[in-house]
Amino acid sequence: MRLGLFGGTFNPIHRGHLRAAEQIRHNFGLERVFLIPAAQPPHKRPGGVAAAADRLHMIRLALEGREGLDVSDVELKRTGPSYTIDTVRHFKGSLAPKDQLFLIIGLDAFLEIDSWKSYKDLLAQIAFIVVNRPQAGGDADAGWKRLGDYLRVRISSDYTFDASAACYRRPGGQPIHVCAIDAVDVSSTQIREMIKKGRSIDHLVPPEVAQYIFSKGLYL
Ligand code: ATP
Repeated sequence: MRLGLFGGTFNPIHRGHLRAAEQIRHNFGLERVFLIPAAQPPHKRPGGVAAAADRLHMIRLALEGREGLDVSDVELKRTGPSYTIDTVRHFKGSLAPKDQLFLIIGLDAFLEIDSWKSYKDLLAQIAFIVVNRPQAGGDADAGWKRLGDYLRVRISSDYTFDASAACYRRPGGQPIHVCAIDAVDVSSTQIREMIKKGRSIDHLVPPEVAQYIFSKGLYL
């Protein structure tokens, strides 16, 4: 089985997350993609993050009827900060040896990976799929060039680009695939700001999610 792990704060989940998960699932022939909300995101300021139970519920609402997309609450069951390396170890420990795991991550998040706990171990343990998002620095080509520069300068000068497979490789390491999608220009920050200003978010999240946010008075 080929499985994707897509972590984030999902504060709240939006159409950009859903588009990325669905297009990557299709492009990489993944049976399932797990959206994995962080309990305590190590890289986000604590204020303004909705309760984990609300973020989890909104993901469940958004995924209803979407084939191949699932939610995992593994990080919500752990105490302390949610480190991706622990989540990857958890999934690797529960899968058959022939299963293949991919860690899905936006380009903006990947460009900070050298600040993540045990990032070298993480890069050695799992193949990555890096996806573009519109706000990550202009056109897609410029974004991929930034990724290549970042990898070679901050991670290892051994990385080379394999154009036939659209991925960066280093000897003995796991591949870092790049995946250009028709990304939706939206972020959770933008949604939270729009709610505070009383503007409609209907085009940015599924209707059930918008309804839940307003019924619970989230992000006001
Ligand atoms: P915030 O604005 O609060 O920082 P966010 O919109 O970036 O949130 P996260 O939950 O932090 O959302 O993101 C989870 C993952 O989804 C990250 O890897 C991020 O890069 C990716 N992602 C977020 N928005 C998009 C988008 N519009 N298109 C593609 N990937 C996205």
